[in-house]
Amino acid sequence: MKTVGLYWLTTDLRLHDNRNWINACCQADELLCVYCLDPALLEPNRYGLNLMSANRWRFLKEFLQSLDKQLQRIGQHLLVVYQHPVDGITRLVSEYDVSVIYHSRQVGFYERRQLLALKNSLPKVRFDDCDTKTLFKTEQLPFPLTKFPASFTEFRHRVEHLGVDEPLPAPTSLPPSPMAKQNWLFDFPAYLELTSELDHQQPFFGSEVAGLQHLANYFTAEHASFYKETRNALDGWHNSTKFSPWLANGSLSARLILSDLKAYERTRVANESTYWIGFELLWREYFQWYALCHGRRLFAFKGIKNSKPLTSFYAERFQRWCRGDTPYPLVNACMNQLNATGYMSNRGRQIVASCFVNELELDWRFGAAYFEQQLLDYDVATNWGNWQYLAGVGADPRGKRHFDIENQTRQYDPEHSFIQQWAAGIHPTCIDSVDAADWPIQPSPWILSA
Ligand SMILES: Cc1cc2nc3c(=O)[nH]c(=O)nc-3n(C[C@H](O)[C@H](O)[C@H](O)COP(=O)(O)OP(=O)(O)OC[C@H]3O[C@@H](n4cnc5c(N)ncnc54)[C@H](O)[C@@H]3O)c2cc1C
Repeated sequence: MKTVGLYWLTTDLRLHDNRNWINACCQADELLCVYCLDPALLEPNRYGLNLMSANRWRFLKEFLQSLDKQLQRIGQHLLVVYQHPVDGITRLVSEYDVSVIYHSRQVGFYERRQLLALKNSLPKVRFDDCDTKTLFKTEQLPFPLTKFPASFTEFRHRVEHLGVDEPLPAPTSLPPSPMAKQNWLFDFPAYLELTSELDHQQPFFGSEVAGLQHLANYFTAEHASFYKETRNALDGWHNSTKFSPWLANGSLSARLILSDLKAYERTRVANESTYWIGFELLWREYFQWYALCHGRRLFAFKGIKNSKPLTSFYAERFQRWCRGDTPYPLVNACMNQLNATGYMSNRGRQIVASCFVNELELDWRFGAAYFEQQLLDYDVATNWGNWQYLAGVGADPRGKRHFDIENQTRQYDPEHSFIQQWAAGIHPTCIDSVDAADWPIQPSPWILSA
């Protein structure tokens, strides 16, 4: 009897360094390659925001279309199902008599809950989960998740010496699909055909080929040798690696980046800067296991520390922050950059998140949800973990971080060139238009200038 396998792709949109393909090649006679586009992704969530902006949707669509092309070259194709994964996959399993599902291990609470629901609804199907996202495999960790290190420093000391597997090659052929190729956008609502109007500004293209090319270019040049000096810049393509958008969608493997970094250190230079790139990849690693360990507490107002922040929700402040219309030009510039490109530097993210929590006294979860909507490199573990950290309810042993915006401007944008590039229009000197009794605050600079 033939074995029909189904590979449920998620944030692992690549051929290289992906054990799922190898498992499928060894075990399955026929294979369905499936991506489920959950309609909830494009609908408002509990924060009144979409899970995905037009920019993010454009980027994801590029990944799906280009993966489909790559698969066609090796005798397969990608089936994109516009349905909740549990419903979509259950339907395909029964239609094609699937006996094994290949899947990458997920760290997010809701993603894991979906997998569990699927396992419960398909008790006869075997699930083959593997670690494609992280540097380490689950069984390599030198501690159980119940004893997960409380700080990044402790985590780093415990894992820094561990070996990391060499990246696996991409498959050159795959078992055939039991179904004929379909035009995957055919059945989808018309708005899914829309792309962002800001495409021309995008330096990021969503494909594994583009990610691999970017990785090769980065280490062919000298940028890695100066990373530590340049990484805090607010702008500039070469000042940090820009690996994150491809990493987040899984079209670049962290193990491949590390392997190329080690090759660079062997053949070119090994210095503090190259060490620091590995150090940042460990931060990413930390937040992946952190999310797995803390489950739904990653999204809790009180965080993992169970300490209630002294913040609340003010609709007007939140909206002004989102659209870059606060009394802080540097914050506005960063937010304008995010809204236009889907990217913001790490320094910028720290500054706008600190402003959100400290100056605007807003509930950090709304800021995290806005980042989720906008960031091309949105990653559930890294985003919510960093926001918790900044809000003082996460992994930071020092408690809440408060960045002095004036000092940050003097240090990182002394000539105001970044502000001039991104901060358009006249901005208010006060964040609220009414006082605590709902009385209009007068005179109001943005009313006068209107
Ligand atoms: C509030 C906030 C939210 C964030 N949300 C995300 C997110 O959703 N997705 C995301 O990928 N990064 C997030 N980051 C981390 C960081 O800002 C980005 O990874 C980085 O700016 C991406 O640019 P780069 O690839 O050039 O980074 P580089 O500086 O070149 O770093 C190399 C890689 O290391 C990892 N890395 C760097 N900084 C961090 C960090 N602070 N935490 C964890 N990993 C890190 C990333 O994978 C990055 O690609 C967030 C940071 C903050 C402060």
